[in-house]
Amino acid sequence: MRRRDRVVGAVLGSAVGDALGAPFEFGPAGAFGKRFPEAAGKRFPFAAAMCGGGGWEPGEATDDTQMAVHLGESLLDAGGLDLPDIFERFRGWAAADPKDIGILTECVLGSGLPWDLAAQFHFRTEGRAAGNGALMRAVTAAVRFAPQGRDATMDAARRITALTHGDGAAWEGTAILHELLRRALDGDDPQAAVPSALAAVRAEHRERWAVVLGEAWHPSLATESNGAVWPCLGSAVWALRTTVSFRAALRAAVDLGGDTDTVAAVTGALAGAVYGVDAIPEEWSAVLHVPLPPTRRVLGAGELAALAVALDVAGRVAGRGGVPTSR
Ligand SMILES: [Mg+2]
Repeated sequence: MRRRDRVVGAVLGSAVGDALGAPFEFGPAGAFGKRFPEAAGKRFPFAAAMCGGGGWEPGEATDDTQMAVHLGESLLDAGGLDLPDIFERFRGWAAADPKDIGILTECVLGSGLPWDLAAQFHFRTEGRAAGNGALMRAVTAAVRFAPQGRDATMDAARRITALTHGDGAAWEGTAILHELLRRALDGDDPQAAVPSALAAVRAEHRERWAVVLGEAWHPSLATESNGAVWPCLGSAVWALRTTVSFRAALRAAVDLGGDTDTVAAVTGALAGAVYGVDAIPEEWSAVLHVPLPPTRRVLGAGELAALAVALDVAGRVAGRGGVPTSR
């Protein structure tokens, strides 16, 4: 499989997961499977499963993908990591009243504090900032920084996460996701990449991440809701580990209930990188659309694919200091 198929698969897969899971957000486990049963030897109805509901149109992506697109466009326009620019774009988006926005993200972006103080101030006053709100938007940055290697991609992940999330657990979780995606884009098994990712995690956070990413972990063992960063990433890795296709991984993710759009967005990024864009059901990418406040743009699958390819090219130019290969 070409790298390009994995890169587009990751970005599109994340957006598809977001849209697939959105109607089931905060619902119980098993709701998706009950509504769209899969008989032995038969696939569940792809077209019907992208069902919309709860205020979402069929195929409409949510804040997860909107923030990922703003992040990716900043990385391209700025020619690299420009943290004040990313923060400004996030702030403009939050001020435009998006349909959905995480509570912590809204507080930080609406605080009026500057980019380098807002998240830390919120964490110090609230004491809680280990939500999954930076994991959900990570795929575009992961594609962009992957060619620069493990330490560079994990460092970028931490810095971007810190714009909204003051808790180091969220920094490390997003850094791990970046590294698992980097290895998946290289054609490796993300589960096999866990040990080397953990080795680069800051020591005080390593043990807790090792538990939820271990092969013995199951989402039923979570000690928090999957709106928290640990079970969210743990569940995505579990969904990938215990299934053999893109669609089955997403089905497992949405069927966990809870923060279904974000768990499925993270799962979709990993599964898209592993199985490639051709594994994403056509019925899902055909209806996918991403409204992008504060603009009036609505991105479709083609525009997301173009964004993914541009980020990969920019990353490879930066990573190799030269002309990208055509792979
Ligand atoms: Mg969302």
